[in-house]
Amino acid sequence: MIKIILDEIGYTENLLEKLSQNPAHMLDKKPSRDLFLIARYLGQEKELAQETIYRRLLALMRDHYPEFNQNTWHKLLEDFSKKSLERRLTRLSYIPVYESELARIGVLKSKPMRRLAFTLLCLARYRLCVSSSNNGWINYPYKDIFRLANISATVQEQCSMIKELISLHYLSMNHIVDNLSLQVLYLDTENTSPTILEITEFSNLGYEYLLYCGEPYFRCQSCQVLSRKTATNNRYCKDCRNNIQKERSKAGMKKLRKSRSVNEQHALQTQ
Ligand SMILES: [Zn+2]
Repeated sequence: MIKIILDEIGYTENLLEKLSQNPAHMLDKKPSRDLFLIARYLGQEKELAQETIYRRLLALMRDHYPEFNQNTWHKLLEDFSKKSLERRLTRLSYIPVYESELARIGVLKSKPMRRLAFTLLCLARYRLCVSSSNNGWINYPYKDIFRLANISATVQEQCSMIKELISLHYLSMNHIVDNLSLQVLYLDTENTSPTILEITEFSNLGYEYLLYCGEPYFRCQSCQVLSRKTATNNRYCKDCRNNIQKERSKAGMKKLRKSRSVNEQHALQTQ
């Protein structure tokens, strides 16, 4: 699953703060991505030595990962510390989408095709923002690209949509290296036309395009993820709504217990 974080420095600072302030805050069940971000943060922003980074990762795992086993994790943590200077952390606030690019996408015939083209464009722009020598090339599993584009399609349908974009000269494919690399050819590398959209969140790019087209989508007030508007829902996404409900019922139970114990005490005192 593609999980693109535009501001990796801000994200990591936030995470480290949560971990240091709350001993009960746990690392993700699959902590590798976050650990590698922390390693790179400590190496690049704090300029810590490899050995120190390793010890910090070890301590974080010990304190914030249930049933941590050093033998299982040693090699990976060492690897992360060793590679801490390899890839610069990003500090991007948004990915721009230009008028000329939206125009190219807008002339595609089917709606899913436009959503796919928009998603590919955002991924290619992101790669270009991360590495200025990247010439529109992206390399992500097709199923992840289609999930980001909010398109449900079989593997065959996915391949035929990609093929169609290649035949229209919107994409080219690298047959030599592997068959997943795609070059997005409608990226406006001159940046001469005005910026129309600023993409700040990379989870539902298909919905992002539909929102731009005027369809009823809304951004969650808590996590910024886009969802479709319904008659009863236009503030929080499904996950955040569930969390809020859980929190509310927990708080409700606490209140109930408290008022009960006050009543009981009161009853005892008046006996
Ligand atoms: Zn949300």
